[in-house]
Amino acid sequence: MQLLEAIPKKEYILVVDDTPPNLQLLLTMLTRKGYEAYGVSDGIKALSHVQSDPPDLVLLDINMPNMNGFQVCQQLKSSNLTCDIPVIFISARDEVLDKVQAFAVGGVDYITKPFQIAEVLARVENQLTLRRLQRQLQEQNERLKQEINNRIIAEILLQEANEKLGRLVNLDGLTQLANRRCFDEYLEQEWQRLAREQQPLSLIMCDIDFFKNYNDTYGHVAGDDCLRKVSHLIKESVRRPADLAARYGGEEFVLVLPNTDIEGSMLVADVIRKRLEELALPHEDSSVSKSVTLSMGVTSLVPKTDSLPSVLLTSADYALYRAKELGRNQTYQIG
Ligand code: GH3
Ligand code: MG
Ligand code: MG
Repeated sequence: MQLLEAIPKKEYILVVDDTPPNLQLLLTMLTRKGYEAYGVSDGIKALSHVQSDPPDLVLLDINMPNMNGFQVCQQLKSSNLTCDIPVIFISARDEVLDKVQAFAVGGVDYITKPFQIAEVLARVENQLTLRRLQRQLQEQNERLKQEINNRIIAEILLQEANEKLGRLVNLDGLTQLANRRCFDEYLEQEWQRLAREQQPLSLIMCDIDFFKNYNDTYGHVAGDDCLRKVSHLIKESVRRPADLAARYGGEEFVLVLPNTDIEGSMLVADVIRKRLEELALPHEDSSVSKSVTLSMGVTSLVPKTDSLPSVLLTSADYALYRAKELGRNQTYQIG
């Protein structure tokens, strides 16, 4: 289906002249040329007409009773609504000073009477073309500004979405600790780095004691809440920027402690167990305490480039198993 092309609106010119034959002649030739033209015989009528029906251009006589053309033009230029309408003076006054003043009050051109029809039409068309181009430029500018704004907004939204995605990909939803995926990646990365540097890497594996009983006693909602509190406590217990606390599985947590030896890691484990004791989350169905406790396996080694981080993981897992086996609510160390 072909779209109807918009019919261009006729350009509309207001002619102001107190001499009726002049006014008539100008109106006739402008209309013949295809413009819409309207005439008034004095400045006051001109100003009120411009307010009610703003033209695309004003052809303005200078010598008129009551208010001369300069005054009319000054008034037009002093209002935001009318200051952009181009004014061409058309006058019998041919002094240089008049012409200078015409431009000084904001006129864009000056035609002397008696005028040549072709010259008037050429000057009118010239100003209208300028105005059209100016408008096109303004519109283009506005569109560009809008486009730039839209792009900036889109970029901000995209950045936010990416950050959110990054968090979702790396964080555990329940505890807001790093998730297993993030832990695996980080362990691998630190393993390689510390193998090059020949510095120790430690792991602490923690598991809440008798957590199944906790859920059975207090319900899953309380169980989730307990996981959040323990997670928070663990996260707050590691200080170095390179330390990472992650949720390893259901009620199991793991800490990656780069550049930390076994003694340093044991201190961290002790801090966590002590703080948990102070927090004293009631757990009446635990066989080792009246409150929630953790068993921990701590291990440390200097990574080798030809071995895998799973060595460290297996060792920490075994240490945790030993802590459980030896009675829970304690730390077992290997390394
Ligand atoms: P142990 O002292 O040997 O570690 O005993 P346990 O009961 O803590 O260990 P077990 O592995 O038998 O049970 C772990 C429980 O943790 C079972 C499961 O209901 C609970 N659990 C795992 N993930 C979640 C969770 O996201 N929310 C809640 N509320 N409970 C969970
Ligand atoms: Mg477990
Ligand atoms: Mg457990």
